[in-house]
Amino acid sequence: MDIRTGNGFDVHAFGPGDHVWLCGVRVPHHRGLIGHSDADVGMHALTDAIYGALAEGDIGVHFPPSDPQWKGAASRIFLEHAMGRIAARGFTLANCDVTLICERPKIGPVAPAMREALAEIMGLGADRISVKATTSEKLGFTGREEGIAAIATVTLLQA
Ligand code: MG
Repeated sequence: MDIRTGNGFDVHAFGPGDHVWLCGVRVPHHRGLIGHSDADVGMHALTDAIYGALAEGDIGVHFPPSDPQWKGAASRIFLEHAMGRIAARGFTLANCDVTLICERPKIGPVAPAMREALAEIMGLGADRISVKATTSEKLGFTGREEGIAAIATVTLLQA
């Protein structure tokens, strides 16, 4: 059996706004996240982890930020493309694990909704999808609430 692991990492800075998109869920917040797309930092890390497992580059390769057609794009387009690449290569996604790193907004109360949102986009059971969070103990840019970071890991299987 061919088993592949990939990791992804992403950061987006806070800016003006009244909500953030995180793992497919619109979360009310007193700031927004700046980005070329909807700046869904969790979904970007997850999408990059898939591309990493397949050794097929990263989001920037498939969806260049210089291309105006992706301005303001819903990040599910990126994740759906990555899931399509998994299928095209004959793999299945065994599980994924996303960690959001921020002081606020609080992720715990919305993590179940994020798992459900990702499950719908990915066509998987939510039991294969983990979304969790940590703070950085008020240290660094996440601790100063200048932005949100996310890391993700995926495992792919080819039967
Ligand atoms: Mg990003």
